Amino acid sequence: MARKTRNFAVIGLGTFGTTVAKELTRFGNYVIGVDINERNVAAMADTLTHAVIADARDDTALREAGIGECDVVLIAIGEDLEANVLATINAKMIGVPLIWAKAVSRTHHRILNKLGADRVVQPEEEVGMHIAQMLHNPLMRDY
Ligand code: ATP
Repeated sequence: MARKTRNFAVIGLGTFGTTVAKELTRFGNYVIGVDINERNVAAMADTLTHAVIADARDDTALREAGIGECDVVLIAIGEDLEANVLATINAKMIGVPLIWAKAVSRTHHRILNKLGADRVVQPEEEVGMHIAQMLHNPLMRDY
């Protein structure tokens, strides 16, 4: 049975964020992409349902981007810790039912958990583990 489509927002359209946003769109979901950088937003304008220039540190800008109507938000901002943390707090304050957030370190991971992110991901560590398993296990490697 086909999975029900949902409303997603991806905040931060770097390599990680755009990859997730494109794939969610390909699965037929409604996807809003948000980034502070005009060029990153323009690059996704024809691919996503909506692509919005906004600063995720500003809760009003996130509300105006439609974050309040989303079932799930992924915070995919990496290097700017302050922006990542404030985006998570804002999504929580707006009342998004499910918040996933990207962390860049163990400490960052713990902070996001404390702030109420429902799932914290560390993509490089998770992919690194997966690749080690594939390299170690010949059956998986040749699959
Ligand atoms: P990746 O590895 O996915 O390319 P990264 O971990 O290097 O990303 P950044 O490039 O620092 O992380 O951030 C990802 C995206 O988040 C960038 O496109 C950046 O413009 C965007 N971003 C940074 N700060 C904000 C902000 N305050 N509001 C919205 N978007 C932001």
